Amino acid sequence: MPCNPSYEILFEPMRIGPVTAPNRFYQVPHASGMTNALPRVRAAFREAKAEGGWGVICTGACSIDPSSDDSPLPFATLWDDNDIRAHALMTEAVHRHGSLAGVELWHGGASVMNRTSRLPPLSPSGIPWMATHVGFMGNLRPKTMDKADIREVLRCQAEAARKARTAGFDVVYVYAGMGYLGYEFLLPEYNHRTDCYGGSIENRVRFVREMIEVTKDAVGQDCGVALRVSLEELRDRPGRNQPSEAHELVELLADLPDLFDVKMDSSPTDCSASRFSGEGSHEPVIDFVKSLTKKPVVGVGRFTSPDTMVLQIKRGVLDFIGGARPSIADPFLPAKIREGREAEIRECIGCNICISSWHDGVPVRCTQNPTAGEEWRRGWHPERTDRADSPERILIVGGGPAGLECALTLGRRGHEVTLADSSRSFGGRLAFERTLPGLSAWNRVVDYRLGRLNEMGNVSLYPESVLGADEIIELAPDRVVLATGARWTDMLYSSMEIPVGRLDHPGVFTPDDIAAGRLPQGPTLVFDFDNYYMGGVLTEHLAAQGIPVSYVTPAGQASAWTIMTNELPLVHRALARRKVPVTTLHLLKSFDGETATLAHLFTGEEVRVACRSVLIVGLRLPRGELFEALTLRADALAAAGIRNVDRIGDTLAPGALAHAVHSGHKLAQEIGTKIRWQPYRRDTPIVDAVADFDMRTAAE
Ligand code: ADP
Ligand code: SF4
Repeated sequence: MPCNPSYEILFEPMRIGPVTAPNRFYQVPHASGMTNALPRVRAAFREAKAEGGWGVICTGACSIDPSSDDSPLPFATLWDDNDIRAHALMTEAVHRHGSLAGVELWHGGASVMNRTSRLPPLSPSGIPWMATHVGFMGNLRPKTMDKADIREVLRCQAEAARKARTAGFDVVYVYAGMGYLGYEFLLPEYNHRTDCYGGSIENRVRFVREMIEVTKDAVGQDCGVALRVSLEELRDRPGRNQPSEAHELVELLADLPDLFDVKMDSSPTDCSASRFSGEGSHEPVIDFVKSLTKKPVVGVGRFTSPDTMVLQIKRGVLDFIGGARPSIADPFLPAKIREGREAEIRECIGCNICISSWHDGVPVRCTQNPTAGEEWRRGWHPERTDRADSPERILIVGGGPAGLECALTLGRRGHEVTLADSSRSFGGRLAFERTLPGLSAWNRVVDYRLGRLNEMGNVSLYPESVLGADEIIELAPDRVVLATGARWTDMLYSSMEIPVGRLDHPGVFTPDDIAAGRLPQGPTLVFDFDNYYMGGVLTEHLAAQGIPVSYVTPAGQASAWTIMTNELPLVHRALARRKVPVTTLHLLKSFDGETATLAHLFTGEEVRVACRSVLIVGLRLPRGELFEALTLRADALAAAGIRNVDRIGDTLAPGALAHAVHSGHKLAQEIGTKIRWQPYRRDTPIVDAVADFDMRTAAE
């Protein structure tokens, strides 16, 4: 189909200084968890987006010098010739599809701990970032940079920019955002200097200005130079000549970089979860930038709607439509708009599992796109699959995220698929979870897949079909795939931090009871040791129904694991807004219908809380009865010609939506292939030569 004419503006070529992007789709720098140690994994991950039509594809943070060392968090480097070769794999891959490659040169300043390099972190005035996130905490405080340090960082930036040009990058960044070094010079809280780099906004901007100047000198007319800058804090401070210091910064630098890449200041607002903010949430902070510069502006906002994208351009907010998460969830988003296939966009759900991968220190994972990060090592493509050599008749029982993804991928491979679910509508756990506060966008997991499945002639959908072993044997498919999900249990939790025992009382509820419409009576205590979103969101849900609710967890924070998805601060705010008392570091010991007894996790000291009901959000176990029943009927299965019974998703190993989708995709890819012991290709660093290093020579 042709492109909708009103979307054609998105496909105009755009200049970034001396280079030209083929369109306005700009994959802004984002963490991929793929360091230079995984150069082929990284190149293929980025290439998929270039193939899918993103006009500019950028790296994540790329350190310019060992004094910027974020380990154990993953980061790229441009320190030597081996690094150049590692990055060249990506630039070549991106160029194969006519897109530009950008590199986010980066110095972490006081926010890195240099755990590997063991150099002192650098900062304008010795002020550290005292993070509450355990992954970022450290006990090394930064050194105050003297003029020689500043000159050295400028030299490293210029040197890294020259290496970037050699590696084939078209756009080279200066990074002054998110608490990193350039940003620390901009903010008076970090910058207490009394020399020409501190004090007035003109002085605080000086370091960033010099970083841009040396970068431009280094790359000449071969690359565009982009400034990535966080504006949230500065936007809140009144300026002397402009409404805010953010305005003054842009005015001072207006003609210098070839592109402004503008963003928020902290990860929870910059990469905000859909649970707490919608599409385009950056606009109130960055909306003024274009009024002060003629240079192109790129910004993000989890944009997945082409109408919103067009409006951002026509309303003069942005020139480029920036995307990190939308490009992970659907590398082919631009191509689908260009080809009039908007309905096929696999929209990002804003769950932030992708960012949790970076916090975990592993390559990116995505709930919506199970192929993300698997392009090279497993050979998966976000849009194409190999056709099966010999199509089979496959029955999938359970149409939650795992069953839907498995059906879609098996259908694309040419199998004859029957998908049955006992419920009236498909979606499994999401049928309920999408109704919880802030989670409606998560249903995109279901919408995308059902939309495609309904178009496929070789997939039959059977809702309201409860299947037992007898029915399955009677249907006699070639294969059975069980995607029957998991159940929440009423198990408690021991001081050894493992699930233990059961709390058997009519006033005890699990999330499955709430999903089935059984609401607790009277004051309710939520005991959460699942630690992800469910405990917090159900607490909000009950409070919204007018039920007096309190929240207890053995962890140190409410919904403790959501620190990984940037949601934790906002979970606490949401609970506080609903006036929910939060008790941390406590176990639930017992409940008698009137009183719950809690014990401190470490001291064992007991406290009693009056409540009529208890909701336990703890351990999930597979719904495994059907698998067990089929296992006992091996002879009947063989007689019916059923060759295999496989399990996927939560019924195999209960997890997050991302695990279920990946599990469904994996089985669908593997059916009909010979699965080897080693399930994926292992990447290796590119090392042509390890340079000799002589300490005495280096010191001379
Ligand atoms: P996952 O996350 O692994 O996809 P879900 O719990 O979201 O798991 O979905 C499992 C689905 O399987 C639910 O919709 C449930 O109603 C369905 N289901 C479970 N047992 C059966 C069965 N015996 N017959 C048909 N559908 C079933
Ligand atoms: Fe979007 Fe979630 Fe995928 Fe991240 S993991 S890109 S937030 S769908």
